[in-house]
Amino acid sequence: MDAAPAFKRGLVEPVDVKRIFFCGDPHGHFEHIIETVHAHRPVAIVLLGDVQPKEPLEQALKPILALTEVWWIHGNHDTDSDADYDHLFGSALADRNLHGRVVEVAGVRIAGLGGIFREQIWSASGQPRYPSAEAFLAQCGKGNRWRGGLPRKHRSSIFPSEFDPLLQEKADVLVTHEAPSCHPHGFQVIDDLAASLGVGLAFHGHHHEHIDYRKEEATRLGFTPVGVAYCEIRNQLGHLVPTTCWRTAFPGDRLEER
Ligand SMILES: [Zn+2]
Ligand SMILES: [Zn+2]
Repeated sequence: MDAAPAFKRGLVEPVDVKRIFFCGDPHGHFEHIIETVHAHRPVAIVLLGDVQPKEPLEQALKPILALTEVWWIHGNHDTDSDADYDHLFGSALADRNLHGRVVEVAGVRIAGLGGIFREQIWSASGQPRYPSAEAFLAQCGKGNRWRGGLPRKHRSSIFPSEFDPLLQEKADVLVTHEAPSCHPHGFQVIDDLAASLGVGLAFHGHHHEHIDYRKEEATRLGFTPVGVAYCEIRNQLGHLVPTTCWRTAFPGDRLEER
């Protein structure tokens, strides 16, 4: 009589047994995340940027806040408007931002790097134009400031002053909005960061697509890169967590503007 549930558990492995789910660019869609958390009860979820909740994040995810830990990094679109910014950075979940630090989540050390590389700040190769927000502000006219500080757009630009401290850390998993070099629009410095951290896996969002990097890249890079597509959810092994609604509910799947 007890055999059936045990067998059933075996069937749903590995999705069911993994503790942390990684959620690709939600762009304001949370229905599939709420449904999946109810179905699989991961200990934690990590949003990979371009979150853009239409209300404060704790409101958008209210049905699952008691069921799972919510962590996030920001993407380039999280600074598109004041509302995008405030609903994420000003939310009650603001302290769950993994950007620029390593946090132990469900027993896994996760390093986070939100935002994107912008030429105006740092193109991720060669010398940065501005090593820090302070250096940029020193050159920035008062009229260009936002709320008395960094222009809103550059609050999702990666500064070396946020990136470099991560090179002193160790972690098991790296989450970034930008991709490592195995993606056609990825960056060598993300490879270098992952190698320096000593991670086994590196999840990224931003490109709205999942490319199978397995063939040569894990060997070349020394870690397993995983691209998580638009509104997609992947588990700690990088496997797709099937959701019933994401493709049908959000047919506006699109490639990120580059
Ligand atoms: Zn996106
Ligand atoms: Zn993006």
